[in-house]
Amino acid sequence: MRRILLAASLLLCVQFILAQESDSYLKGEFRAQEARKYQMLAKQYSTLTPGQEGFDVTYYKLDLNLSVNPTNYLSGSVLMVAKVLNDNLGSIVLDLMRAMTVDTVVVGGVPVNFSQQSSTLTITLNRLYAKNEMLSVRVVYEGVPGSSGFGSFAFLTHATASGSAVPWVWSLSEPYGAKDWWPCKDHPGDKADSVDVWVTCDSRFKVGSEGKLVAVIDNGNGTMTHRWQHRYPIATYLVSIAVTDYSEISGWFKYSQSDSMQVLDYALGTNVPQGTTNIASAAASMSTTLSILQIYSDLFGLYPFIREKYGFSQFGWGGGMEHQTMTSIVNFGESLQAHETAHQWFGDMITTRTWPHIWLNEGFATYCVALYYERKSGPTGYWNEVNNNILSGIKGTPGSVYVTDTSTVAQVFSTALVYHKGGTALHMLRHVLGDSLFFKAMRQYAQDPRFRFATASTEDFQSVCEAASGKGTGSLDYFFKEWIYGEKYPSYQYQVAKQKNDSSFTVRVTLNQTTGTSNPSFFQMPVDFRFAGSGLDTIITVFNSSQNQVFTFNLRRDPTTFQLDPNNWILKDVSGTMVNVDKLSALPNEFALLQNYPNPFNPSTIIPYDLAAPAVVRIEVYNALGALMEVLVDNRMLDAGRHQVQFNGTTVAGVSLPSGVYYYRLKASGTIIQTRKMVYIR
Ligand SMILES: [Zn+2]
Repeated sequence: MRRILLAASLLLCVQFILAQESDSYLKGEFRAQEARKYQMLAKQYSTLTPGQEGFDVTYYKLDLNLSVNPTNYLSGSVLMVAKVLNDNLGSIVLDLMRAMTVDTVVVGGVPVNFSQQSSTLTITLNRLYAKNEMLSVRVVYEGVPGSSGFGSFAFLTHATASGSAVPWVWSLSEPYGAKDWWPCKDHPGDKADSVDVWVTCDSRFKVGSEGKLVAVIDNGNGTMTHRWQHRYPIATYLVSIAVTDYSEISGWFKYSQSDSMQVLDYALGTNVPQGTTNIASAAASMSTTLSILQIYSDLFGLYPFIREKYGFSQFGWGGGMEHQTMTSIVNFGESLQAHETAHQWFGDMITTRTWPHIWLNEGFATYCVALYYERKSGPTGYWNEVNNNILSGIKGTPGSVYVTDTSTVAQVFSTALVYHKGGTALHMLRHVLGDSLFFKAMRQYAQDPRFRFATASTEDFQSVCEAASGKGTGSLDYFFKEWIYGEKYPSYQYQVAKQKNDSSFTVRVTLNQTTGTSNPSFFQMPVDFRFAGSGLDTIITVFNSSQNQVFTFNLRRDPTTFQLDPNNWILKDVSGTMVNVDKLSALPNEFALLQNYPNPFNPSTIIPYDLAAPAVVRIEVYNALGALMEVLVDNRMLDAGRHQVQFNGTTVAGVSLPSGVYYYRLKASGTIIQTRKMVYIR
């Protein structure tokens, strides 16, 4: 799913829709209202609804009647087939909002007792079921669906050229809204193996939905029944309908010498106000759709639902939603189409197992847009997308990519964290693994039978990357801890010192970082150093694994400029200086705290220490119990080189210390370098 800003031309058709919603939608109060409304529901959804542990859904058939005249109304039935997971299963719970009234529930052909709660339907089964038995439950229900989340069910209209209104009905159930309009086990962790969606409505309308349109039946009473059949696993939030007087257009995705798959778009016809997105823009975008399908098929393996179709149904929500095999979309734009189509692999074929891991859907789709532009127009296309969209707007947002608070849709779908920082994590992972291993990992993830047409977590993706890279289990722990579960990003400070030799230059780079958080306090990362000058332009990648880390290089030409991560492979801030020195060897190679002398001592002793680069220094003295006795150097910025400080046992806070063991500690730029022991004898 992706929200977009509405362009002026769209407002013609969309303002009509917004006018029907309350003004608060426009004032931004919508979000706050949703937050309150969803607090309760979402808590419930951090785990499975109680009463749903005992069965695994294999199939749903929605058989719906949609009435828009004289009033908006939905009635029909849903058949659920499920495998029983526990012995002695006597009752089950489905998710369904109380706004829908259940008339009858039939289990195994027998009418049974049921009761409705605010968001659930409790069903007493006709008998006790044993483990591995199949259970069939048919719920007959009706009502006017409520609308939650991003607008889970919408009875709206679009304008015609003459200004009249035509009914326009669509669903957008992600994340928790399928239960607003149909009874189900509304959790992404339990995919049905297949689904049928039958919709009976006014014969003026077409219905867009999942899979293949296997029949359209004229009922002879001014209605038609549209039978969609989808034979791939699907999560409840990806089941959709989109209904109005659509026009349609077909293209063919030719994926081998002899085989093609239909690409079917439903869009508003030409009888709409000037400037409204309609079938003409769908037609104009068909070649883009085909090339997006080709590029992702090349990268990740063939389009997942190849036996059926792909396509777009135009709807009025301000963005796109990756409904399986038929994305709902507000207008036909290349980057929006590239995002939603990527979801067919990442989101639909492999679905986040629970909402906290939603970056596996949205971060992936966001990053795939950059990969699409790279394949289409080369590195410039990639870097434009990365720098303008993926790396943007992240730094000021606290929190992790992993969603710790799923109580609001705004949190679950945080643009900065889930979309942009999630996408940035993949961008950075590409540099960590290198191109060939990264693309191998992405493809292996998409092809992995454990996750394909199923669900995955962050740990599953990490394990695929570790296996593909050949570096072993746990080798990427640091990366996922930092960038998915951690917050913020590194602020690098470097000092570069260079020395001219007879026929070369010795360069020493000292690297520090601050993170502004304890989660993590340090980002381990491969970091690029670029040295450039006359006849010289080279990038050297180092692995930054500790504070105050010193890297030394010999270069044949004079590096007049130094850049840290010049290509923007890391989300970061950076600052630093470069100095010429006469003799680099006169400078220490590392940060170190040396042994005091004399030792034992009375009354005073000298403490020497080395700084490999300029640093903010603090030196503290503790007694044997760990109590701070004196600060000898208090956060002073000092140059690189050998330094020393005196300690006098008789003048600590104006009194003399008792004899005994004392400890002294060196911190450079906030990092403890070393602690040593000394003995004072009175
Ligand atoms: Zn998305």
